[in-house]
Amino acid sequence: MSDLLTNSAQHGGQLGEGYGRTKPQGADFSHGIALYLEKVSVWFDSFRALNDLSLYIAEGELRCIIGPNGAGKTTLMDVITGKTRPTTGTAFFGQNYDLAKMSTEQIAEAGIGRKFQKPTVFENFTVMENLLLAAPRDKRVKKSFFSRLAPEAQLALDESLQQIRLQEFIHKPAGLLSHGQKQWLEIGMLLMQRPKLILLDEPVAGMTDAETERTAELCLELKKNHTLVVVEHDMSFIDTISEKVTVLAQGAILAEGTLAEVQANEDVIEKYLGR
Ligand code: ADP
Ligand code: MG
Repeated sequence: MSDLLTNSAQHGGQLGEGYGRTKPQGADFSHGIALYLEKVSVWFDSFRALNDLSLYIAEGELRCIIGPNGAGKTTLMDVITGKTRPTTGTAFFGQNYDLAKMSTEQIAEAGIGRKFQKPTVFENFTVMENLLLAAPRDKRVKKSFFSRLAPEAQLALDESLQQIRLQEFIHKPAGLLSHGQKQWLEIGMLLMQRPKLILLDEPVAGMTDAETERTAELCLELKKNHTLVVVEHDMSFIDTISEKVTVLAQGAILAEGTLAEVQANEDVIEKYLGR
């Protein structure tokens, strides 16, 4: 392992280019927008989980999404990641990727990474093994488990470990980590794919106060190099990380603005915060 670490340290930022791989075209953010959702509705039978929702996320933005249970927050992430198809409306990643026409795998490869509510780390594997399992494989070598890592995976590993700050636990089985550490490991696994857009669904649910604070720091660090969409209920966490906040209720946008602005909004008080 130390080989990997030294190797990528020596090569600095130069890994990831060349090596004869065909470079994917990549998402086109030239208009400054990473994600376009236009008039998206999702129907489950006659029930509208999303109702004519339009949402634009700028490149480099950290958008927080709040709202009552059942508002459609997770469904929104399902639409972005291809797990659920919009019944009507369009969803684009950059100007060129029509998400409704792509598989979940293609969407992940295009640069959208998602952390689900529940951590899904491999408990019997160490922190390091979990990260390596999440690394992109060298596609020229058609073997699965521990087949050769793509060259850029070495750099991703260093960066990922540094960001989630689990270096001292790299040889610990993930099952022995605290709940918060498991969540960070899962974020680290997602970073191994070097996503451009990161979706986090209730990342601090069940965390201690200290873990929540650390997760806020992590989000702010991730913001330097990624576009983020974060769904959360924890208002002090939202207060720490948020710029623009979108409030969802009944599948539609109730309000948008700073946290202070949406908290002062009458509709939001009535339908979400309560009096
Ligand atoms: P949130 O994450 O904001 O709590 P969800 O997006 O999970 O809300 O759910 C929105 C609504 O859609 C809920 O009423 C939920 O029961 C419903 N729903 C979500 N997924 C499905 C599904 N696959 N089939 C039927 N109803 C669903
Ligand atoms: Mg949810």
